[in-house]
Amino acid sequence: MIKGKLQDVTEYKLMTVKECLDTLGWKYITNDDMYEDITCPCSNVAVECSGFFGTEHVECPTCGKSMTDLFSPIQVTSGSCTVLYASEWEMDAENRHWVAIDGSGGIKIEV
Ligand SMILES: [Zn+2]
Repeated sequence: MIKGKLQDVTEYKLMTVKECLDTLGWKYITNDDMYEDITCPCSNVAVECSGFFGTEHVECPTCGKSMTDLFSPIQVTSGSCTVLYASEWEMDAENRHWVAIDGSGGIKIEV
């Protein structure tokens, strides 16, 4: 069952992992499909990865720039989260379900 276009649930532009890394200006080494040694040029510090099921959120501990997988638990209102399922949403491309956030505050989605 398709609920709609994934892009319609957020004001942030959906991107692939690589597009997010490039948008945020982060430096990295690619090794096949892996991105390693990711650092933010604001302080040349390594970014921090976190997630419930794998890497779903990556953030610079210094400036707060971050990227989030929309298929991770995401805040909907101040007190609740939701998880979107990949099988229920239309995407431009299979891997385009990340958003880049320039600054702190996190993202909200409207389902
Ligand atoms: Zn930074």
